[in-house]
Amino acid sequence: MSYMGQQPLTVRTIFERMRTVYGDNLVIDALPEGTTRTTYRALADRVLRLVTVLQDLGVRPGDRVGSFANNSSRHVELYYAVPLAGAVLHMVNIRLHDDQLEHVISDAGDILLFSDDALSDRLTTLNLPSVRKVLTLGQDVEDLIAEAAPCEELPELTEEMPAGMCHTSGTTGMPKAVVYTHRSTYLHAMAACMVDALALSEQERVLPVVPLFHACGWGLPYAAPFTGAELVLVGSDTSPANLARVIAEEEVTWAAGVPTIWTGLLPLAADLPSLRTIGVGGAATPRALLEAYDRIGITILQIWGMTETSPVACTSRPRRRHHGLSAEELLDVRARTGTIFAGLEARIVDAAGEQLPWDGESVGELECRGPWVATDYWGGSPEKFHDGWLRTGDMARMERDGYFTIVDRSKDLVKSGGEWISSVQLEGACLAHPAVREAAVVGVPSRTWDERPVVVASLHEPLTLAELRTFLTGRVAKWWLPDELVVVEEVAKTSVGKYDKKVLRSQLAEMVLP
Ligand code: ADP
Repeated sequence: MSYMGQQPLTVRTIFERMRTVYGDNLVIDALPEGTTRTTYRALADRVLRLVTVLQDLGVRPGDRVGSFANNSSRHVELYYAVPLAGAVLHMVNIRLHDDQLEHVISDAGDILLFSDDALSDRLTTLNLPSVRKVLTLGQDVEDLIAEAAPCEELPELTEEMPAGMCHTSGTTGMPKAVVYTHRSTYLHAMAACMVDALALSEQERVLPVVPLFHACGWGLPYAAPFTGAELVLVGSDTSPANLARVIAEEEVTWAAGVPTIWTGLLPLAADLPSLRTIGVGGAATPRALLEAYDRIGITILQIWGMTETSPVACTSRPRRRHHGLSAEELLDVRARTGTIFAGLEARIVDAAGEQLPWDGESVGELECRGPWVATDYWGGSPEKFHDGWLRTGDMARMERDGYFTIVDRSKDLVKSGGEWISSVQLEGACLAHPAVREAAVVGVPSRTWDERPVVVASLHEPLTLAELRTFLTGRVAKWWLPDELVVVEEVAKTSVGKYDKKVLRSQLAEMVLP
């Protein structure tokens, strides 16, 4: 006997709502080759045809199907068609090196790959033993869809079936895959839409600058259609000029991406009246960036998450107790990381795994758990998990009501004379200097102090180390003042646009400080 509905929580429910309730709402491809508009209804029709195509190609429930593509409505179609066919969409990061590509595709055992036409050459030279066929999303898929009837009887789906798979970007070692179930995908989409989370709604037009090939495009391909929010997909050109053009022409209201994207867009952002909210995550949002966007009437909403947390798990929205704070103090609050989403739990632990108090002072490793947090990697690799908790590798402090601040990734903390310097906080302080465009801090070996902080920066105008140190004095502790300033044209970034500390460390490999 059950008193409540027993419908399984699956991608199909999101799909049906998109198709019926929000069928008239738009999906806009603002691609380098031109802009085209479709509706969720038309997109859903293509999805059902694509399910038939997948079935005709021999895809069976549980099979892994890879995508190798930039952001487009065609990529969104795969987010639905593959799970609706009972199979698993494996989003392959197009910026990986050849050996990593071979590794992730064979690790997942993808039997089919769907590639952007412009990217498919990349795949031809690779050794991909599991892959039976590579289909281009333009030519091949259009031909197949044109001939296929919409699937009338979708396979039965259960909550626990895998729906998606994404490899971490592998900042240490080879990438490991996280597997998302229908249930986790559904719950993540719901939770992400809550008002104290991303607050997506039917009124928004959403531009995910975050790639759909990394961390599920932050779940936006599910969360937006679930609420009826419209989607704008921008393809391969995420240059500031193109983003500004698309946001203006398509009247985007809500955009999402890593901090470096918004640092780049800033000089053009004052002329974008439709844009109200930018979700910024993947790395800490510098306070100076929050402030600069506030000044032009665009609110940055800081988001924290990981591939392992589906990925969105926390936003920095000031709480009731922050009412009445000054504008400056509120900026400080928003520059912290925020409150874990309803449905998830977070805590901090010391090196021995003992829980640390929520006193706003103690710093420990952040752990979290919940129905859209991974409990293991694909193929099993349990070292980052215990008792249902994920060890995030992020060091944080918790205030008494669970408002937390990521101090740094444990591996990026600069260890100086037995004390820690937060590279993230020092970067934020450097970015407040008007001459600084980008700033990344890494620890460099020091004969006296073990490690000392070095700033690698790109600049708007000339700046010396002495000037930077003078500026930072009073803003950070004296012993945090950097020992070197290395000026570069552009700070090295990872495949998803974060400062690439591994590369920066190797660029500074020769440096030894006194
Ligand atoms: P990778 O570890 O390869 O970068 P992810 O994209 O999964 O892969 O990144 C997750 C990590 O990004 C987090 O563990 C954290 O270190 C960092 N991160 C994400 N959002 C934030 C944020 N708002 N503040 C600070 N760090 C963040």
